[in-house]
Amino acid sequence: MYDYDLLVVGSANADLVIGVERRPAAGETVLGGDLAVHPGGKGANQAVAAARLGAATALLARVGDDGHGRLLIDSLRTAGVDTAGVLVGGAPTGVALITVDPSGDNSIVVSPGANGRLTPEDVRAADGLLRTSRVVSTQLEIPLETVVEVVRSLPEGGRLVLNPSPPRPLPAEVLAACDPLIVNEHEAKVILGDSAAGDTPEDWARRLLAEGPRSVVVTLGAEGALVAETRTETERRTDESGAGVGGAVGGGVDVEVTRVASVRVDAVDTTGAGDAFTAALAWRLGTGATLAEAAGYAARVGAAAVTRRGAQESFPTGAEVEAL
Ligand code: ADP
Repeated sequence: MYDYDLLVVGSANADLVIGVERRPAAGETVLGGDLAVHPGGKGANQAVAAARLGAATALLARVGDDGHGRLLIDSLRTAGVDTAGVLVGGAPTGVALITVDPSGDNSIVVSPGANGRLTPEDVRAADGLLRTSRVVSTQLEIPLETVVEVVRSLPEGGRLVLNPSPPRPLPAEVLAACDPLIVNEHEAKVILGDSAAGDTPEDWARRLLAEGPRSVVVTLGAEGALVAETRTETERRTDESGAGVGGAVGGGVDVEVTRVASVRVDAVDTTGAGDAFTAALAWRLGTGATLAEAAGYAARVGAAAVTRRGAQESFPTGAEVEAL
């Protein structure tokens, strides 16, 4: 029996934002506006996004025994996330110090803090959460060894969704467990190396799939997304569920690449769009949707998220997505 539609294993940060006329140069002090503190971090963002859509969601994360940690736990609970897996202590809560100038350009310093202390042992101790969640989603704002332990701790038949952000080369063991690996253009290029320059997004999807994941999603901002699976994988799933994937745009030997249309909206702030997209897709997969169906729903969630300012504050409810 499943208690959770989605378990997110990942980071929780306090985003400390100050508007400035000009970002400071080395050795310089500038005066800015009032400090704004926002709950953030990719793990917490994904958990909040899924819970707002209506998914039964839990978060495995670590925050400090401090005011920022309490702010984060509060915002998670308000969104409906189960926070029993949010561990407290070991280091100060992760913080992103952000200065933004009037043109919207920013400078950011991240202190991972407690996120860096989420250990493989913490994952092993959360075995009960892993076994009772339909889908597990993670990112790279926690130690890589912790992500590896998530892969090793997945129960039989468990499904892992990975957004490798911030991007870095990944061990084969992690790549092989991704179903799907979800990347934007920048992440695709880092994972593939410099040789990706000049290729089309369809080429990236096909080449990423060749690195070992069971499936791949490439997000393309206002252009929507691409999903890629091997035909054998598609057929295996079709046999299991009686549903197929249509609308293939790319051939290749054994690879099916499907384009997922974006929804036309007036974008005001794209912060957190990728987190909302990933959370929505992971949740839908757990309800039995095909990868293309789940990505189609996630594209609507991502589109809704860019119509409002902020990250967590911008995430839509299920009803808002239906209305789009
Ligand atoms: P990231 O935030 O990780 O860079 P993207 O910018 O690719 O990710 O956005 C993730 C998804 O959100 C996209 O695949 C798309 O579905 C949706 N999205 C993002 N920007 C827009 C936009 N301007 N208009 C419509 N949908 C968008």
